[in-house]
Amino acid sequence: LLEVRGVRKSYGDRVVLDDVSLDVAAHDVICLIGSSGSGKSTLLRCIDLLEDIDDGVIRFDGSEISDPRVDPREVRRQIGMVFQAYNLFPHLSVLDNCTLSPRRVHGLSKREAEDRARDLLATFGLSDHVDKHPDRLSGGQQQRVALVRALCTRPALLLLDEITAALDPELIGEVLTIVRQLAERGTTMVLATHEMSFAREVATSVCFLSEGRILEQGPPAEIFSNPREERTRQFLRRVL
Ligand code: ATP
Ligand code: MG
Repeated sequence: LLEVRGVRKSYGDRVVLDDVSLDVAAHDVICLIGSSGSGKSTLLRCIDLLEDIDDGVIRFDGSEISDPRVDPREVRRQIGMVFQAYNLFPHLSVLDNCTLSPRRVHGLSKREAEDRARDLLATFGLSDHVDKHPDRLSGGQQQRVALVRALCTRPALLLLDEITAALDPELIGEVLTIVRQLAERGTTMVLATHEMSFAREVATSVCFLSEGRILEQGPPAEIFSNPREERTRQFLRRVL
């Protein structure tokens, strides 16, 4: 589904992604782990075409999306991204937040978009909040809405950047539960996370990033129990 090949990205003379290659097949759940500043967000932003890359190729569904002639908006019709700080539109109700993009970008009728949004909100236990504005919701609820909003366009790939990092510990669980449900339904995801036990549980594959490189990648059991690289071991010793 997604192919990242030899991607490099620098800010000024600082190399942030150094020859990164990654394959994502349908139904994969890939967890990016690594210290702060290792390049996890930058990699996700490059895939979502929020950043230009300096070298390498990114292919999605067979087409080269890193080609500068590609319209990022077209690509984002199929790739959903959710960030750490839930960025719901404050002036819109939960329902309108969820129907905006399906209507504007995907051309669904109001009726179709609302039916789809209500279904998904119900699936994830958010039916009571349909008509509320985001400021009436807890952080965990807002982040759950942000996830549902991303799902409303039925993206083929979902990118999640530390979506629990801004939440109080007691709210993290309810957001991770949704991600777990998505994984069980076969949603293809690449997610950056500091939640190691979660990564261990849901990932089909874990990538350890260090200084802009994928130092090692493998099934969670392998990476967490028996990492090959000394730097992976050091990192895990600090965070586990
Ligand atoms: P964290 O776990 O803290 O979220 P990360 O792995 O997501 O870290 P990135 O946000 O990808 O790390 O940042 C990688 C490096 O790129 C960091 O050194 C950061 O300072 C730098 N960087 C990120 N965005 C920019 C920018 N817009 N301009 C300059 N440098 C940047
Ligand atoms: Mg980050």
